Amino acid sequence: MVVGEIAEAVDLLVVGGGPAGYAAALRGAQRGRDVLVVDRDGEEGVGGVCLRAGCIPSKALIEMAGVAERAAGYSSAGLSVGERSVDLGAFQAHKARIVGELTGGVRSLLAGAGVRVLAGDLRFTRPDQAVVRTPAGRAAFVEFRDVVIATGSRPAVLPHLVPDGVHVLDSTGALDLAELPATVAVVGAGYIGVELGTALAKLGSSVTLVEMADRILPEIDVALTRPVARRLDELGVTVLTAARAGEHRGTILHVRCGDRDVEVKADVVIVAVGRRPNTDELGLDRLGVTPGDDGLLHVAPDRTLRPHVAAIGDVTPGPALAHKGYAEAPVAVDALCGDRVAFQPAAIPAVVFADPEIATVGLSAAAARAEGLDPVVTTVPMAGNGRALTLRAPRGTVQLVSETGTGLVLGLHVVGPHASELVAEGTVAIEMGATVEDLADTVHVHPTVGEQVQEAARAAAGRGLHSASPARRPHHHLNKE
Ligand SMILES: Cc1cc2nc3c(=O)[nH]c(=O)nc-3n(C[C@H](O)[C@H](O)[C@H](O)COP(=O)(O)OP(=O)(O)OC[C@H]3O[C@@H](n4cnc5c(N)ncnc54)[C@H](O)[C@@H]3O)c2cc1C
Repeated sequence: MVVGEIAEAVDLLVVGGGPAGYAAALRGAQRGRDVLVVDRDGEEGVGGVCLRAGCIPSKALIEMAGVAERAAGYSSAGLSVGERSVDLGAFQAHKARIVGELTGGVRSLLAGAGVRVLAGDLRFTRPDQAVVRTPAGRAAFVEFRDVVIATGSRPAVLPHLVPDGVHVLDSTGALDLAELPATVAVVGAGYIGVELGTALAKLGSSVTLVEMADRILPEIDVALTRPVARRLDELGVTVLTAARAGEHRGTILHVRCGDRDVEVKADVVIVAVGRRPNTDELGLDRLGVTPGDDGLLHVAPDRTLRPHVAAIGDVTPGPALAHKGYAEAPVAVDALCGDRVAFQPAAIPAVVFADPEIATVGLSAAAARAEGLDPVVTTVPMAGNGRALTLRAPRGTVQLVSETGTGLVLGLHVVGPHASELVAEGTVAIEMGATVEDLADTVHVHPTVGEQVQEAARAAAGRGLHSASPARRPHHHLNKE
């Protein structure tokens, strides 16, 4: 320790003010702990990537792009809303208002709970001590009893396409665009790339998606991604698969596509090739903690790494999603408070806010078979759904995976309008051990797209109302004698 520097003693230290970190801080305060949050950006950092440069800003952009595109689509229904013009400068102010409202709300929750927030870059110096380099250049020492590491992740970079804030951007830069580029190449067609590419195409950019795998959204079942691929085509997005992005020179991105070289016109290149956990500059060795080769902190079921040290959010294995971090936070804090707890959700839903939306929870049919289960798969189209028709979006399907014999819901996979909301129904069903009979007999509001979930459940139970039952009739005779 620096001579003369007195360390401040804290009871529960939370490193990182993102969704995982702020949720842990609030839980700590609820448990009567004295909590200090250290975030690189201090009070401004509260909300982390999700609120400031991820979930919320991207959905603000997607929503605006969707409104513009949908409005244009209503001309055949008699609506004309004038010529489309896009002012991304004004959008930035709109986005800042939304982000400000949300992060301000979190700040007041933290203040109300008595949680202090300190600005600075934290690095561990001892198993019970850290140094915080404050923005003013001061080194503040913090001694802690317990610590929750929630430092999140940052965009992965490609060495030949390093973001320069002008021509090559990461997702944060893309969401900060103040002018709509005429031509855009998005490198990486995972969920972030597809979401950004779709929004920019709807606003009027000419977009090319460049993906190394042989299809878009390679981590998602191909049956779910097909409607999105079709829609991208309709929107005029060029999709290059089995394609490796090379250098960006002038306004040309050089791409190796199979065995040929392709030149992609791109005023702006957006690199969205995944994210890296922020675990490399924390001095974790001083804490006696070693990340895995993937940079992730491989925590125990109760989210601890060793006594007094827990980790949550994007720095831990599992989907790098805000709701996973939120859900881990109370488990970690309760474990540090001495409770016997474990983070063992039956399922974690995932959503791609593409067009149409894709949402998936639980097991796919293939994953169920790989687990030795004998799944019943029922798929119903969105096409006949009244609400989907009124939304002018009767595209996609609802697929329900259940277990033969017991009728237990194993998975729900939706591609279509409001899939992001519908997936909650499957998550609750799986978490509660509900059967297809339970879903089929639950009264659903009409007209909603959610009725298709009920219809899929009816079909799985062998009594589809508007659709055929699965080819192989299941044998559920639960509940209803
Ligand atoms: C474009 C985009 C769209 C996304 N959309 C969604 C979505 O729709 N739904 C969803 O669930 N997820 C989405 N995500 C992912 C989501 O943002 C993350 O999963 C989530 O933010 C992770 O939360 P976290 O608390 O683990 O970390 P983060 O949100 O990354 O927060 C970590 C915090 O730690 C601070 N920090 C890091 N290192 C230090 C240090 N050494 N000292 C002090 N402070 C430090 C950082 O400043 C940051 O504030 C999206 C991400 C991106 C990039």
